[in-house]
Amino acid sequence: MPSLAARNDANSTTTRPRVVVVGSLNCDVVFRVPHHPQPGETLTAASVARVSGGKGANQAVAAARLGADVTLIGTVGDDDDGRFLRGEVLAAGVGDGIATRGDAATGAAYINVSDAGENTIVLAPGANATLGPNDLSSYADTLQRADVLLIQLETTLDAITAAIDAVGERTCVILDPAPAVALPDELLRRVDVISPNQTEAAVYVDGRTAAEQAAELVAHYGGTAVMKLGADGALARTAGAAAVVEQAAFPVDVVDTTAAGDAFTTALGVALAERRSLPEALAFACAAGSLATTAAGAQPSLPSREQVEALLAAG
Ligand code: ADP
Repeated sequence: MPSLAARNDANSTTTRPRVVVVGSLNCDVVFRVPHHPQPGETLTAASVARVSGGKGANQAVAAARLGADVTLIGTVGDDDDGRFLRGEVLAAGVGDGIATRGDAATGAAYINVSDAGENTIVLAPGANATLGPNDLSSYADTLQRADVLLIQLETTLDAITAAIDAVGERTCVILDPAPAVALPDELLRRVDVISPNQTEAAVYVDGRTAAEQAAELVAHYGGTAVMKLGADGALARTAGAAAVVEQAAFPVDVVDTTAAGDAFTTALGVALAERRSLPEALAFACAAGSLATTAAGAQPSLPSREQVEALLAAG
């Protein structure tokens, strides 16, 4: 696999990076709870809200807010939730690659956000589990021309594999392996950048520390490993480069960490598509991730480019 630097050198400079997201759309039902419920416990929430979510939709909206030209390829059911999600995503300026299924419900996530700002999630994939290679066939040109392909693990292995098959030689393939599941080694070797947190990385490698995990990911699969470390920021290692790149998180008032990882990985992809160096891209990504923790919900909390640039300038 060519190194990330070689990929970036080969990329043409564009004013708006072209991003394609192949991923999920979920209707998030968000409960504000004093603590997370124990088995057998019935808990009264302070509030409940329906918000547009799903890692694919989150990353597509994040890319649009950061100024990218972005298309989301995904699936929803023929129901109110599906119409709501499509409306939200398109209103954010995302290009429409969303198919409607007559025989599956829209994906749903029940999210408890505690007073401490931590979340737990129960997910029903619904229509997301039906995304397949056929859904990508109308977007062959878009996939070929993409600077960045963003993929996650809330749809199907078939769709993800087809997406990697369909992108151009110069497309940087970024995998956010969440929710982490075992993947074929061959697929992992075709990924240019993997951006797990430590729990997700443990599904693929044995290392104890984040630095050890990043080193093992790169040794086994090549490319670049970018470890998301929550309040501790992020750490990256690239195949063939001895140095580890580290970036602290930005001190913010945390309200809800939902979608912080999506904001982070998308911002990383947008910055790499703009041919920024890895340390610069990591700072841009951490600023976006930190900002996403300062507001409730998934897509409502995703920052604009102006907000990210302002935080970087202040920090
Ligand atoms: P994930 O939700 O995928 O596990 P993280 O929790 O690591 O991802 O969050 C992604 C990024 O968001 C972090 O690398 C960091 O930049 C930012 N972030 C997350 N939590 C905090 C926090 N408590 N304070 C500041 N920044 C944070």
